[in-house]
Amino acid sequence: MNRKLKSKPLLYSLEPFDLSGHRLRATLRITEPDPKGQIISMPAWIPGSYLIRDFSRHVEHISAKSGTQAIAITKLDNHRWRVAPCQAALTITAVIYAWDLSVRGAHIDETHCFFNGTSVFFQVHGQEDHPCRLSLLPPPNPARWNVFTSLPQDTRANAKMSRNGFGTYVAENYDALIDHPVEMGTPEVIKFDACGAKHEMVFTGLVPNIDLKRIAQDVKKICEAQIRFFEPETTRVPFLDSAKKYVFMTMVTGDAYGGLEHRASTALMASRKDLPTIGHDNAPEGYQTFLGLVSHEYFHTWNVKRIKPAAFAPYKLAAESHTRLLWIFEGFTSYYDDLFLLRSGVIDRPTYLKTLGKQIASVMNMPGRHKQSVAESSFDAWTRYYKQDENAANAIISYYTKGSLVALALDLTIRLQTEQQHSLDDVMRILWERFGRDFYQGNPIGLSEKGFPQLVREATGVDVSDEIHRWAYGREDLPLKQLLATQGINMTWQSGNTRPSLDIRTRKQGEHLVIASALEGGAAHLAGLSAHDLLVAIDGVRVDAGTNTLESILTSYQPGQKVNVHVFRRDELRCFELTLASPPKADCLLQETSKP
Ligand SMILES: [Zn+2]
Repeated sequence: MNRKLKSKPLLYSLEPFDLSGHRLRATLRITEPDPKGQIISMPAWIPGSYLIRDFSRHVEHISAKSGTQAIAITKLDNHRWRVAPCQAALTITAVIYAWDLSVRGAHIDETHCFFNGTSVFFQVHGQEDHPCRLSLLPPPNPARWNVFTSLPQDTRANAKMSRNGFGTYVAENYDALIDHPVEMGTPEVIKFDACGAKHEMVFTGLVPNIDLKRIAQDVKKICEAQIRFFEPETTRVPFLDSAKKYVFMTMVTGDAYGGLEHRASTALMASRKDLPTIGHDNAPEGYQTFLGLVSHEYFHTWNVKRIKPAAFAPYKLAAESHTRLLWIFEGFTSYYDDLFLLRSGVIDRPTYLKTLGKQIASVMNMPGRHKQSVAESSFDAWTRYYKQDENAANAIISYYTKGSLVALALDLTIRLQTEQQHSLDDVMRILWERFGRDFYQGNPIGLSEKGFPQLVREATGVDVSDEIHRWAYGREDLPLKQLLATQGINMTWQSGNTRPSLDIRTRKQGEHLVIASALEGGAAHLAGLSAHDLLVAIDGVRVDAGTNTLESILTSYQPGQKVNVHVFRRDELRCFELTLASPPKADCLLQETSKP
C-alpha cells in the first residue's frame, strides 16, 4: 500500500435525520478515490452472527458527487457499487433504513438510535486499512440525547465534540470502525472501574426502579475475575489496544435475550422482568441469565475478538466465512460464562451445578447430537444453526451447548491426568499469549484447526488429540458421568414428572397447541404425528393452549397405554393411534459427594 494513500483518512458522517421514518443519512468522503472508478460495498454479515444478512438491502438511496458535480454510481452485485472515475475527492451520500430491533442491525425512533457500523458504513475497496474519522451528528430536535460508544474520540486540537458526545470519533481502519456500535438517546447509565479500567453500562428502554448499583456491583466482580484470569500478573484489560473504556449497551424490552460481542463493547438485549429493582433483595430468577449473558460477551473480548480462528483473521465480509472451530470460540465461551459467575462469587456452587446440569440435559435431549459433530455444526452455522426449522432437534447439535460440554470434558480430563496441576485455564492463557494479546498490536494471527491439540499439549503436557477427535469431530456422547465422578460430583438422571409423554415439543398458536417438533423415534413420530399438526383431542378430550392442557390430560394415563390423538393437518382432521412413552429422564442432577 502506497504510504501517501495510507495517510489520507476516510471521512464518515452519520445523522439520524428522520426519527419516525427510521432513517439515517450516512456520508463518506474519499479524498483520493480509485481513478479507475472507486468500488464501495456493505458487509453481507456482521462478525459474531453467522448468517448472510445483506445489510445493503436497507440502503434506500445512494448518490455520489465530486466537488459540485454529480457522478454516476452503479450497483455491481448484492453488496457492491462502482462510482464512475473522477479526478477530485469523492463524496457518497446514502439514506439507510434502520428499524431492526436486534443486536445485529440498526434501530432508530424518537427515543433512541442504535447502530452497528456494518449496517451504515461503506467499505472503500483498496483503502480498508486507511484511518477513519466519524462525525456523529445530532438528531433534528437534539432534545437531551447523549452518545455512548467505545469508539475513541478524536483528540486533535481542532476536533469538534459537544458535551453530550456529538462530534468526531476515530478508528484505525475499517475493521475497527465497524466494531464499535453506537447508542444515542437518554438511557439509564452506570459507570464503574474494573481493575482500574473504565466500564460503562447503558440501559435503553423503560425499567422502573432498575437497581443499577446492584447490577454494576455484580458485573464488576465478573469483569475483574476474567481480567485476573487472563492477565494474573498485570491485570491489564484487553481493550486498551482499541479504546479507553468498555461499554455494555443493553436494549430492554418485554421479552428479549441476546448479545453480540465487539472488541471494546457489547450490544445486549434483555427482558425487563430479568433485571433487579430497587427495594427487592431477591433478584428475579432471570437475573442469573442476564449476568450469564454479560459474562459470555465479556469473555469474548479475549476469546473470538482477539483469539480468533484463522478464518476470521481478517474477517471477510462479502460472503460466508467457514470455520470448524466455533465449538472453541462459542463453546468454550459458554463453558466459562457460567463458571465465572461461580468464580466471581455471583452464584454459589449448588446453583452452578444446577445450571451445569441443565446445560448437560439440553444436549442429551437433542437426538441430533448423533447426526452432527460440533465441528460440523460450526462449519454449517450459516445454513443450519442460524436457519433452524422444526427438524433441528433431530438433525443438528449446538456448538454453544455441546461445545461447552466438550470444554468441560477436556477440562476434567486435563485435571485428572495432571493430578489437578493443570486445567483448561492453562489452555486459554496460552491461546491468549500466542494469538490474542497482540492481535491488534501488529500480530493478527488466527488459530488453525490443526494447531489446537498441540497447543493443549504445550500448555498442560496432556495429549488430548484422541479426545478432540472423538468429542469435537465425532458424534459420540461425552463420558461426563465418569469424568465428573473424578472430581467428586455424582451425575444422575431424573424425570421431571411422572406423566407419560408424546415425545414432542409444542408451541402455542392463539388458543391452540401445535406440535413444534416430533422427536425422532419418539411416541408421536412412531404413531405418524408430525411437526405443525394442530392438536385437537386425546381420546376425544379437547387439548388446547388454555385450561385443557396436554399435561392435565396425560396425568390420567400410564406409559404404554394406547390413546387416539386427533389433529388438524392442513385443516384436515386426522386421527392417530399412539402408544404413550415413559416420562423422559430430562433432568440431569449434579451432586457433590466426598472426594474419591
Ligand atoms: Zn458468543
